[in-house]
Amino acid sequence: MSPKCPILIKLWVLQYLAVLCVSQNFDFFYFVQQWPGSYCDTKQSCCYPTTGKPVADFGIHGLWPNYNDGTYPQNCDPNNPFNPSQISDLKSRMQKNWPTLACPSGDGTSFWSHEWEKHGTCSESVLDQHDYFDTTLNLKQQTSLLQALESAGINPNGGFYSSSSIKDAINKAVGYTPWIECNTDESGNSQLYQVYLCVDTSGSNLIDCPVFPSGGKCGSQIEFPSFYIEFPEQS
Ligand code: 5GP
Ligand code: 5GP
Repeated sequence: MSPKCPILIKLWVLQYLAVLCVSQNFDFFYFVQQWPGSYCDTKQSCCYPTTGKPVADFGIHGLWPNYNDGTYPQNCDPNNPFNPSQISDLKSRMQKNWPTLACPSGDGTSFWSHEWEKHGTCSESVLDQHDYFDTTLNLKQQTSLLQALESAGINPNGGFYSSSSIKDAINKAVGYTPWIECNTDESGNSQLYQVYLCVDTSGSNLIDCPVFPSGGKCGSQIEFPSFYIEFPEQS
């Protein structure tokens, strides 16, 4: 082998790595929102955040990079850990729209940190930490799920609704068919837990889902459980 060969090979490898660095290595995002009533009424139960009870609305679970074949990358960059100081201007929007319901109670930092490190680091070539959370908050604003459902007469009152009526109502309001995921309440009823919408690689535009997730299938009739509504304190 001539001595030039190893240098050429090194150059090819460098070029290949450079291409990998600038291109986004995922195909689309799932934007996932959770219904707090369905997180809390399971056997596992829930804990309200230390910063206050969440309002009765869908909350953000995450923005997850995905591949068109249904697989997904995770924990892509251990050198870019969650840094709360980068999102200090977003904190009150985060507490309101991305509340943590896991036990023990927390202020959201560990939920947001988990989402950034598992999912956000896999889209860091497109969205840095601040933009990742800001973009996700904006998506929530663009997709008023509770309003979409209530406009179609689908209310969180413990009633049962058909899965197709839920999907149709969301499609009518946001223009795209969602995937819905169910879990089971303490009595074993299948209920609306999470709503998945698909977003292009910029994080800004909803798209038709290239592939739907495989798990969490819902029955044809599912419960939409209530979550308490806050009333002003009586004086
Ligand atoms: P589960 O196993 O409860 O469905 O999902 C556990 C976690 O795995 C989710 O909260 C999410 O972090 C990740 N996950 C599950 N399904 C998908 C998927 O289809 N795409 C992506 N990107 N992550 C997923
Ligand atoms: P994923 O399912 O996205 O991989 O992981 C969710 C992680 O965040 C779990 O470790 C879970 O305990 C934690 N977590 C904290 N708060 C919440 C919450 O409100 N909803 C969900 N689904 N997970 C939460």
